[in-house]
Amino acid sequence: MASNNRCAGSDGTPKLEERPCPVCGEEVEVFLRKGRICEESVCPKCGYKFEIQPEPVIVPRQVPDQAE
Ligand SMILES: [Zn+2]
Repeated sequence: MASNNRCAGSDGTPKLEERPCPVCGEEVEVFLRKGRICEESVCPKCGYKFEIQPEPVIVPRQVPDQAE
């Protein structure tokens, strides 16, 4: 039986952290991945929603061609 020991707890693992709610100041547990919110959380006190913060996407620069 081959046992592959995968390295857990690397970059892709979400981390549970408490963040103060910007509305009421309540500490809300949010899941962070690489320092960004990776799962929606709702403040139990006021209902404020912590939205997912996607990783920045590098968009190729486009030059609008409206030369005419
Ligand atoms: Zn709140």
